Amino acid sequence: RAKSAGRDNYKHFAPEMNDEARARLDMENAIRRGLEQDEFMLHFQPQVNSRDKSIVGFEALLRWHHPELGMVPPGEFIPAAERSGLILPLGDRVLWMACRQQKAWSDSGNPVLSRAGICVNVSPIQFRRLSFVDHLKKIIQATGVDPALLTLEITESSLMDMDSQVLEGLHRLRELGIKLALDDFGTGYSSLSYLKQLPITLIKLDRSFVMDLPDDEEDAAIAETAIAMAAKLGMTVIAEGVETGEQRRFLENLGCCFMQGFLFARPMSPDDLADWVKSPLED
Ligand code: C2E
Ligand code: MG
Ligand code: MG
Ligand code: MG
Repeated sequence: RAKSAGRDNYKHFAPEMNDEARARLDMENAIRRGLEQDEFMLHFQPQVNSRDKSIVGFEALLRWHHPELGMVPPGEFIPAAERSGLILPLGDRVLWMACRQQKAWSDSGNPVLSRAGICVNVSPIQFRRLSFVDHLKKIIQATGVDPALLTLEITESSLMDMDSQVLEGLHRLRELGIKLALDDFGTGYSSLSYLKQLPITLIKLDRSFVMDLPDDEEDAAIAETAIAMAAKLGMTVIAEGVETGEQRRFLENLGCCFMQGFLFARPMSPDDLADWVKSPLED
């Protein structure tokens, strides 16, 4: 009845804010329950050298296997986890799973997997905690993973209001032997002089600049500039979201041969990955 009385009236009985607040609370409770029930897992997407077809490493991507909703993509729950602070236990789970997985690969003796680097996405909220570096150190010691095989992906925007403490944290991570990557490069507003001070070894060119290559002239210019700049600064570039042979050739011509995208492989469960590496990149 309230519904048929019109939109405004309906709103009066169930104000939008309440719905939103309730949906948030539901999501938070579901994440909490998911953590308890161990519903989160990592999938891994290969990063390849398109020229010699070698495997450069794997990006760990979080997946939530929800009992009713099925596979929930990270875009749908990471923001809620960040808003609520649940990203701390969740991100912690990710670090443990990634380190354990790499250690298991090392122990497996598989020639590709045993020396494969893993890239792990880290939320700025996790990363800005003072205890982050010490905590990660503990996980590395407990799992026995080789820190040289670990890269943390941080987004450009998470470094926006970087203070000396954050910068010091980055350097301490480097001292542990961990590598740092700048994710979604080009979508933030970092200046070149600012990039120069960061102990970053890898830049991930955001998919939005790769998507419309080679036709979009602006994206082509951005890709070209980013690749040239990275080379000058001694950093490696991985192009994200490479889906077509045309994109691949265009990037190769610019001197970028490290790529990640559906053209090569989708993110996979560790089981599927173990199969995939048996015959990874055949033309
Ligand atoms: P990202 O770190 O930029 O990860 C790359 C995303 O692009 C992944 O989406 C991947 O599946 C997708 N992708 C890769 N190649 C292609 C392609 O060729 N075409 C298209 N259309 N997409 C491609 P996914 O797994 O849905 O993750 C989305 C975002 O969620 C990630 O973006 C990252 O920001 C965040 N995320 C994922 N896992 C974690 C995590 O463990 N912790 C945190 N804090 N964030 C995570
Ligand atoms: Mg990433
Ligand atoms: Mg990215
Ligand atoms: Mg992204």
